[in-house]
Amino acid sequence: MEIEILKTKAPRAKVPADQLGFGKVFSDHQFMMDYTHGRWEKPRIEPYGPLMLEPGACVLHYSQCLFEGQKAFRANDGKIRLFRPRFHAQRMQQGTARLCMPSVPEEMFLESVRKLVSLDSDWVPDARGASLYIRPTMIGTESFLGVRPAEKYLFFIITCPVGAYYAEGFNPVKIWVEEKYIRSAAGGLGAIKAGANYASSLLAAVEAKKKGYSQVLWLDAHDHSHVEEVGTMNVFFRFKNEIVTPPLGGTILNGATRDCVLQLLRSWKLPVNERPVSIEEIQAAFDKGDLLEAFGSGTAAVISPIGELATKSRKIALSGGKVGELTQKLFDEISAIQYGDKPDTFGWVEEL
Ligand SMILES: *Cc1c(COP(=O)(O)O)cnc(C)c1O
Repeated sequence: MEIEILKTKAPRAKVPADQLGFGKVFSDHQFMMDYTHGRWEKPRIEPYGPLMLEPGACVLHYSQCLFEGQKAFRANDGKIRLFRPRFHAQRMQQGTARLCMPSVPEEMFLESVRKLVSLDSDWVPDARGASLYIRPTMIGTESFLGVRPAEKYLFFIITCPVGAYYAEGFNPVKIWVEEKYIRSAAGGLGAIKAGANYASSLLAAVEAKKKGYSQVLWLDAHDHSHVEEVGTMNVFFRFKNEIVTPPLGGTILNGATRDCVLQLLRSWKLPVNERPVSIEEIQAAFDKGDLLEAFGSGTAAVISPIGELATKSRKIALSGGKVGELTQKLFDEISAIQYGDKPDTFGWVEEL
């Protein structure tokens, strides 16, 4: 693939790592590629800037929009490491199939990410905890108001230097168990990173925040009895004799971090199961003293400790408000592999 490169004439000043936050600062360049006439055309890297879209562009009306979220890290030796780039390329293909979009071949996806991150390598922060967040996105650009798959698409990649997610420390968060709104239903879009999923999740998050909770625990759409995900993360519960995460059944997202956690726990020979887990089982385990820890997993935060689960009728406080032992160990281990403190024996990391 020939990628045309147009470098910015006005490179912007870098922002210190402790002022980056998440997703607010963008790097100097973006990758763009058009799908027209049934094929991908004009792959190019250009200065970061606004898109030209007709107001009739179908993405603006019917949300044919899919994205990915992955990271690049500056390791201790100064080298840049992409974390699980193939996992993300493949997951994007599952999403494009579901949304009737053209797929981006894996090698094309990887080369685009590599070229863009190489050109903007100065934007990969070197502070511990900080990284370059990479956001590949596909949208339907054809201008028409009929409901059908578009015939024209734009695949673009933008990147954001992001600060340490836990700048103020690794703190357990309070979670609202959501019994009114749902995130996804069987047969829907829950297994893919479709933009539409996030629009439908906002109201629950806003209402939870008003009640003093950071995020919601999503339950199944069928009868609100089983746990699905926490906010935009996968969720794990550590019981006395077993660690459990809900199975991939089409309603939850196949997280790269979820997969890392599963592989690590299995390598440590801990009893971990992907199985349905009900809110009733969690409450009963808590009452018996058998619920030890709970945490979310996702690219942005890696691991997010849960300190409290609240329903309309009761509150469950976990690990005495502290970070659970396994939660901490998983966070430390995944971070150590990402930054190159520990060798990657799983094949998760690819040097740029
Ligand atoms: C992105 C995402 C996750 C986490 O996936 P990772 O690949 O680990 O970042 C989990 N749930 C939802 C809904 C997501 O959008």
